[in-house]
Amino acid sequence: MTTIEDDLTGLRNRRSFLSILRRCVVHAVDKHENMALLVVDIDGFAQINGAYGYEIGDEVLVHLKDQLKRVARVVDYVARIGDNRFALILRGVMNAGHSELAVQKLFRLLEVPFQSTVAKLKVSVTVGAALCPAHASQAEFLLRRAEGAIRRARLGGLRHAFAPDTSTELDLSELWDLELQLAGAIERGELMMHYQPQVRLSDLRRLGAEALMRWKSPSRGMVGPNIFIPVAERTGQIKKLTLWALNTALRQASAWPACGYPLSVSVNLPGSLASQHDLPELVAAALNLWKSEHVQLVLEITESSLMDTTNAFPVLARIRELGVQISIDDFGTGYSCLAYFKNIPADELKVDRSFVSSLLTDSNSADITQLIVDLAHRFGLRVAAEGVEDEMTLHTLKRIGCDVAQGYLFGKPMAASELHRWLLSEAVALAD
Ligand code: C2E
Ligand code: CA
Repeated sequence: MTTIEDDLTGLRNRRSFLSILRRCVVHAVDKHENMALLVVDIDGFAQINGAYGYEIGDEVLVHLKDQLKRVARVVDYVARIGDNRFALILRGVMNAGHSELAVQKLFRLLEVPFQSTVAKLKVSVTVGAALCPAHASQAEFLLRRAEGAIRRARLGGLRHAFAPDTSTELDLSELWDLELQLAGAIERGELMMHYQPQVRLSDLRRLGAEALMRWKSPSRGMVGPNIFIPVAERTGQIKKLTLWALNTALRQASAWPACGYPLSVSVNLPGSLASQHDLPELVAAALNLWKSEHVQLVLEITESSLMDTTNAFPVLARIRELGVQISIDDFGTGYSCLAYFKNIPADELKVDRSFVSSLLTDSNSADITQLIVDLAHRFGLRVAAEGVEDEMTLHTLKRIGCDVAQGYLFGKPMAASELHRWLLSEAVALAD
């Protein structure tokens, strides 16, 4: 007969724990309940063993088991799943806050030193938490996510952490599934471009929009570009996707209403393509296909992907010769030096959203934004701010001398037809 218990603590071992976790997960999913999994590691366990001997190490393990049992309710399960690692399944929790309470209770219990046979000891632990179904609806994934959360906590110097949202980080197997689905998404008509309005700050004139890619996956629903663009980059599909985005944006923008001045359409260019020698020819071909004198194409490329200036700068310079403008995206997060400014083949700097969103609360952000504006203007570049969500920020940006604004205040990314209506509407609703 296989053992299901850990000899020392009498708790379930990892294998038996996994089978109970599977049952709990199935139950939670069936009954539409939330459950939480806490994984608890003893900090510095090897040092405890080294300093006091294995017997004391064992006493520490038993002490921690006792405290975990005090945290657990009758419906919960405690297990020992590694040398110095325990797990606690919290069933039927209402939300993340409930599991947080359990973690805090454990920390409080462990604050009290315990009397081992040789010394009074305080046990310190790090906790990783994951919720079912929010973080995973399969036992192995849930465990991996909670164990991943411990690594995150340790890296961040925290005592406990939750697994990151599924929307921002995916499991390997989920990624693999995503790769398979993404191949062929264009052919199946699952990709689309949304457009986010941009206005001139001085008078709120409509300038055009940034084109942002969306993927409507039949099995996953709307998947954001922060998820699928990195997958496309890794699997060699990014060039195809970018050319599709470029052509779609130019085609849809060529149908925009005439405003008496050219409207700009900005397309994101992934860093990996910035130094590809055939890029200018591909851009020229798309421009030829969707020629429109009402449309100004802008290519956005992140500051951090432009560190390889020797290869990227000549390619971008050739693209500018086609009459295309270059915007340096997420500006302020990279490490640009002054020399870089002097030679940069660009027309616009786009201040990173993190500065804009903290403009009113963090004087450093305001100072950095001011500095970027001054520097950019000195070198003949315009400055755009993304992530403008409120009027106070808008006024501050105007005062600082920013030229272009984009953000939820004017509109979230919207379907092409909606953007068309926005361009036609009377005036931007805000006035100063
Ligand atoms: P980005 O270029 O920095 O795009 C701006 C992101 O900020 C967009 O997210 C947009 O929805 C969001 N945003 C805009 N205004 C606000 C605001 O006021 N508040 C807040 N909280 N957020 C705002 P989205 O569409 O999810 O795009 C994420 C990133 O994905 C983009 O960041 C861009 O780097 C990449 N991406 C999007 N479309 C494409 C594409 O066609 N090709 C490539 N290569 N990358 C793309
Ligand atoms: Ca962008």
